[in-house]
Amino acid sequence: MTNALLEVRGLVKHFAVTRGLAGKKLFVRAVDGIDFAIRAGETLGLVGESGCGKTTAGRLVLRLIEPTAGEVLFEGESLGRLDRRALLARRRSFQIIFQDPFASLNPRMTVAEIVGRPMEIHGIARRAERDDRVAELLEAVGLRRDQLGRYPHEFSGGQRQRIGIARAIATRPRLIVADEPTSALDVSVQAQILNLLRDLQARFGLTYLFISHNIGVIRHISDRVAVMYLGKIVELAAKRALFEQPAHPYTQALLAAVPKTDPRRREAGPVLEGDVPSPVSPPPGCRFHTRCPRAMAVCRNEEPAFRPLADGRQVACHLY
Ligand code: SF4
Repeated sequence: MTNALLEVRGLVKHFAVTRGLAGKKLFVRAVDGIDFAIRAGETLGLVGESGCGKTTAGRLVLRLIEPTAGEVLFEGESLGRLDRRALLARRRSFQIIFQDPFASLNPRMTVAEIVGRPMEIHGIARRAERDDRVAELLEAVGLRRDQLGRYPHEFSGGQRQRIGIARAIATRPRLIVADEPTSALDVSVQAQILNLLRDLQARFGLTYLFISHNIGVIRHISDRVAVMYLGKIVELAAKRALFEQPAHPYTQALLAAVPKTDPRRREAGPVLEGDVPSPVSPPPGCRFHTRCPRAMAVCRNEEPAFRPLADGRQVACHLY
């Protein structure tokens, strides 16, 4: 993709686990060869059921964990080729917002320390000017200057996520991986946080990789959407195309499971039955064939390639 801020090529992460008394070594194939790119200023939603590998993918993108194979390019530069020092300097440009705003904030640090710490690490603000910069960030996320000296437990869940967001934008990053940032929040607060993320995107020119299991949240925030199943991306499309005409049977099933508010659109869709197979031994051929209502003989043996269709979307399915 031209003008890609981030490009992911053939990314793989297998975690070794030992099972049983004999200590047999097995591999969890959390991410098993994914490719995508994100343009500067856009939001790519990454959606799938729990355990599909989307959180691992987010951590690989930021090189918080090392890949088993594959490459992540940020502004054309391979992160895997950077030494520790160069990676630390690069980290200023990409940050993460975590799911649980309480667990991700140190309870013994004040808001000024939590939000100011990344600025100190990257030499953006000295201690004397730090509080002023933090106060500006707090106001940007809808908190108040006089809350600088408070501790995380003095805030509500939504306010704590605002602190997490202020910390993420403190280094003026270009890319933010938002990993289920609204999942731990009350429904009434979720929309406020999503709207805040959108406002900050416009104000600071941010690019998001937005990870969620919630298809409604993904629809609200994304420009394009990548659907993940058992360590693979099965469909990647512009939001409108994906929601109006989902191509992959798994995407169709995910959307059919969402309650429709418009009674005219209550058409029956395929129902997703059965559990997600184990990522230790994913089914051969198409990984979705054990649950796919349209599976054919070829699906059991041959893995479908992830290829572009005429309308620009990419799909991994033998139907196309
Ligand atoms: Fe279903 Fe076959 Fe397509 Fe897989 S490749 S999604 S099993 S039709």
